[in-house]
Amino acid sequence: MFRRGVSVARRVVAPRLRGTHVWIQPQPLYTQWIKPRSAIRLTEPARRYTTHSSLYLRTHTDLPPQLSTMDAPYPVPGSDGFVTLSFYSFFSLQSIQTTRSHLQAQWEALGIVGRVYVSNEGINAQLSVPFAKIIDLREWLEHSTVFRGRISRFNWALEHSQAFKALHVRVRPLVAAGVEVGLDVLANEPEYVEPKDWGKELDTPDALVLDMRNTYEYRVGRFDNAVCPDVDTFREELDQVRTMCLTRPRDAPILMYCTGGIRCSVAGAVLRGDGLTNVKTLRGGVIAYGQHVRKTQETQESRFRGKNFTFDKRRGEVVTSEILAKCDQCGSECDTFVNCAHTSCNLLFIQCPGCAEKHKKTCGRELCVERAQLSHEERVKQKLPPQWSHRERVRPELVFRDGVAHNPLDN
Ligand SMILES: [Zn+2]
Ligand SMILES: [Zn+2]
Repeated sequence: MFRRGVSVARRVVAPRLRGTHVWIQPQPLYTQWIKPRSAIRLTEPARRYTTHSSLYLRTHTDLPPQLSTMDAPYPVPGSDGFVTLSFYSFFSLQSIQTTRSHLQAQWEALGIVGRVYVSNEGINAQLSVPFAKIIDLREWLEHSTVFRGRISRFNWALEHSQAFKALHVRVRPLVAAGVEVGLDVLANEPEYVEPKDWGKELDTPDALVLDMRNTYEYRVGRFDNAVCPDVDTFREELDQVRTMCLTRPRDAPILMYCTGGIRCSVAGAVLRGDGLTNVKTLRGGVIAYGQHVRKTQETQESRFRGKNFTFDKRRGEVVTSEILAKCDQCGSECDTFVNCAHTSCNLLFIQCPGCAEKHKKTCGRELCVERAQLSHEERVKQKLPPQWSHRERVRPELVFRDGVAHNPLDN
């Protein structure tokens, strides 16, 4: 069936139809499927959409069939050929172990890397996919008896690259350990606000704007006036937000956001279950808002400032160039998160280029500076047990004194 889709052609070379064929100059992205100046056979209704400047079509065999569907427009891949994306869906998933091993084996075979959680409540996936395999992934999802119709569209990243080393599919609660919310609760979905309408919502008088991420994510980028509970885990954050909201009138406006939307889908449902009636969340989270900002940069000012932290090698995507945070070691303006180069330490903190040089890309502990110089093999051999508590890991700003991380284990 014909569906109006993406513009695949930069130019229709000879727009005069020859029978059912037309010559086109494809967009650079589609040259792997369409040769320059190739003839494309059009379906009858597609001809009506053919113009000099663009060609909207779904053809018989000339194009991958899914190209014109829900994931358009397709992003431009990173220089390494990868595209980074995420998606999640809540539904009753049986036989999770079998699903886990299928995903692991079959997505790995497509060259996909990333982090995927499956549970009885559905799936949460963050992936880097070779550009040429996106269609295969979409087809895989649509042909799978488990996932068919579950993933309405991909949430594209702002910056594309291979953001993960390997593929890890795990059976785990979708959002955070200790927060196991059943499908009956999740069915109480909050109202989803499209990124283009979010700015208007932020101007609602008396709106409580909640940042449902960790405090370290909030440090490098946030919406103005957003409140991020001062706690260490998502469980505590949820408890505090519930307490906070229940002191207000039941219909008082609540606006929540997070990285890609899933934490708010959960938190929003919990609040609705508490009887709060005016709970709205940003669809697709800051990632989708960032896409919106990119598209409309000239006409509209971003209400999100700084960087959107991401849980992968990139450790964040720039939404606006403002720098909101400070180097944990010297206090200079900086929003670059790094992991201590001593792999057994691995502390995640903000480090400026000057401190990276001074402390040899480490957190400054003597042990770390010494061990960071060892070869990879030596470091693996001398692997240490976990060096930091959960609290220290999510609050790196609290462990630094005079530019050096203080670890109780060092005394
Ligand atoms: Zn510094
Ligand atoms: Zn360290």
